[in-house]
Order: sequence, then structure tokens, then C-alpha cells
Amino acid sequence: MSVRTRFAPSPTGYLHVGGARTALFNYLFARKHGGTFVLRVEDTDEARNTQPARDAIFTGMHWLGLDWDEGEGKGGDYGPYNQSERTAIYDKWFEVLREKGRVYEEEGAWRFRFERKPVTMNDLVCGEVTIDYRDESNTPDMVIRRSDGSYVFHFVNVVDDLEMKITHVIRGEDHLMNTPKHLQLFEALDAPAPQYAHIPLILNPDGSKMSKSDKGASIGDTPPVGEIPASPGYERQGFLASAVVNFIALLGWSSKSDDEIFTMDELIERFSLEAVNRAPARFDHEKCAWVNQQHLLKLSPESFAEAARPFVAEAGLPIDDRYPAVAAVVREKVRLLSEVPAAIGFLLADSFDLDPEAVEKVRGNAAAKDLLAALANDFAKLSEWSADAAKHQIGETAKAAGAKPGQLMFPVRVALSGKSGGPDLGDILGLLGQEKCVARLRAFVASL
Ligand code: GLU
Repeated sequence: MSVRTRFAPSPTGYLHVGGARTALFNYLFARKHGGTFVLRVEDTDEARNTQPARDAIFTGMHWLGLDWDEGEGKGGDYGPYNQSERTAIYDKWFEVLREKGRVYEEEGAWRFRFERKPVTMNDLVCGEVTIDYRDESNTPDMVIRRSDGSYVFHFVNVVDDLEMKITHVIRGEDHLMNTPKHLQLFEALDAPAPQYAHIPLILNPDGSKMSKSDKGASIGDTPPVGEIPASPGYERQGFLASAVVNFIALLGWSSKSDDEIFTMDELIERFSLEAVNRAPARFDHEKCAWVNQQHLLKLSPESFAEAARPFVAEAGLPIDDRYPAVAAVVREKVRLLSEVPAAIGFLLADSFDLDPEAVEKVRGNAAAKDLLAALANDFAKLSEWSADAAKHQIGETAKAAGAKPGQLMFPVRVALSGKSGGPDLGDILGLLGQEKCVARLRAFVASL
């Protein structure tokens, strides 16, 4: 029997990290086993469902590369894939229960009659979990159809998994205790139940349960809601989708080796439910940025420049022919693409900020001013300009003044970039070119 998994979000909020992880694990499992990944929208709660929330799910999944095989925009043999369009199917299965005497009416609502026995599930992550239905006071028969005729989550969730021939349900641990109820429904409907895997909660760094308003919770941008301000999603924060996928995979799953950096294909190859942890996962912002940095390092210099381009353009920096080469020199210096404009601004634009602390350090070096002035003149006299020639000249100018080249390096860096750190000095000299280097040195000397 071929594997069929599904992601079944309720479109009541944006796509959050927990939902994205559920989608990812279902996707990886299906792809690994050559199966089918279904997207089913559980939109029965009319009052809380919104179109922006639906769109956020689709765009978020597209951005992450979690392409589904059946569902919105794809069709499939088991549609419709929105629960709101499936009422006739639910009516049909409700009739089955009614004919079997498994439901009864109470104050207009319909309750499902549990079988009074212990029900044990064998969760692929959590192991055996038993709920004893013999004690009716603890486990009252559950309402599956409200008095207004609408169906309750447990019922439609089970009917859909049955109708859509889902073989593995991978979902958040918050649904663990619902599962015995679902098993009772499957049994009552004479249908085999899928296998279940409940994946651990995601906690904030401080150990509290991660909720929708926590930092890093939303995959996409979020508009302001009440007191919570608007916030940029992962893409606008400067993350690569491949890095976010990698980071999310590590929330609850580990490769059982020291390797932590994976492409989607590597994740598909390595993923297994046996390697999903039982313990809650910790959301670690620093780790997320580190994973992003590792993915940036794997890009070619050209791809890195392209990925950073929108951020550089948005910062209003002039993008000229040198841009790809300019961007490439900070590839190893940034963790997020959004850090690129600040890192290369001085290379692209003529005006740039001077870091007062760096300037103070230069002022603390009594010889710096004269050395820089001499270097400006020597630079101006060079007949051919290259990074190597310029670096060689720094050594010569220092030597002529009885100083060490090292004494001049830092002041030159500050004069040319305004900062104490950044790309390799040779790269800066080469990319700025002779004229700009001379002009910047002279302007800096004048300001000291
Ligand atoms: N709509 C449910 C949720 O978002 C789906 C639960 C499930 O995957 O079975 O929690």
C-alpha cells in the first residue's frame, strides 16, 4: 500500500513554525517512501477562517518548497480538499453511524456512543497510549454533530482521513489524546485506522510553550493584530527557505550523527519517524541564524549576490556592475541576507557612516594622521592599481616612516569603510579603486 500523508491546517491564523514543521515531516515522509502528500484545509470553523490565513498557508508552503500532490490548485481523486465543501460526504458517513445505532440525539446535538473498553494506540513516536472508556464519567460520549447540523472536528477529521486513504497521520502532540477517540470512530465505521505519529511540542528558549505571537513563530509576514505589532516573516528577515526547512527539521528530529546541515533532498533521504524525539523541541533563534549562515556559505558567489539583491535594492544602495563582486566579499561575514546592505554600503555608495568608536581608536594612534596623509599621496602616485599593489604600498609607506604595516592597516580600514571590521582589506582596496581610496584617505585625514 503506498504511503499517503496529509497536512490538515485550520486557516485561522498565519502559517506558524509548528504547522510548517508538521507539513514538512508529512512531506518528507511521503517523499521518502515515494508516496503522496495531500493538503487538506480544515475550514469548518466559518467564524474564524479567513482568506488571508488560507493564502498564508499556501504561500508559506510554496516558499518552503513543500509542494503537495493533491489539494488546492492540484485536484486529486479524493476531493474536494476543503472541508467546507465536503458536507455531503460527512452526511453519508453520519448515516452509517446512525444506522448502526452508534449515535443518539441529545438536546438537538448528536453524540457518538463510545465502546466501553480500553483503547490502546501504538504511536510511532510516543509508543503505547491507552484510554480506558469503561468509566463513562471520565469519557462521556462525544458530540460529533452540533444542533445547528455542523460536524465536530473529530468526526470530519476521521472521515477525511478514511476517505482520502491516509496511511500515516503525523501531527502535533496536542492531538495525542484525541487519537483514541479517532480510533473508536474508525472502528465504528469499519475502516482501518492510519498509523499515527505525534511530534513533540515546540518550546520557546525560556521553556514556555511557543505561541502564535512569539518571536519567530510566523513563517510569513504578519500584519498588526491588536497590541501585537506587524512583523516580518523569515524571508524578509533574510533567511533562505532551504535554511528554514533545515532548521525546522531539527525541531524534534535529529540525524543521529553530528551532521546538522541538510538540503531538502538530504532530509528526504535521512528522515525517519524513529528518529523523531519524544522530548519537546527548543526554538533557538541563534541556531536558526547559524543554520542560515551555513546555507549562505553553500551558495555560489553569484547566487549569494542574487539572493541579497532585493535587500540591497530596498536599502536604496546604488547597484552597479561591481555589485556581484562586492556582495561576494561579505558572504562569509553575514548570517542573514538582511545584514548585507549594512556590510557593503560603503563599497557601493559614496557616503557612509563613520563608527565613532573606530574613529576614536584611530585618534588614539598619534602617528596615524601623518601616515594616512603620506599613504594618500603614495596611492595617488601609483601607476597601476590592484589590491596587491595597494597592499604593498601600505607596507612601503609604513616602512618609510619607520612604522609597522600593521599600524597602518587599521586606520586605512576605518578611513575607507568607516568601520573597524568587515571584508578583507585587499578586497576593499581592489573594489574601491585608486581614485576613491585616495579621496577617502584625504577626507578622513581632514576630519581627524
Ligand atoms: N486541523 C487540525 C489542526 O490544525 C488538524 C489535526 C490533524 O492533523 O489531524 O490542528
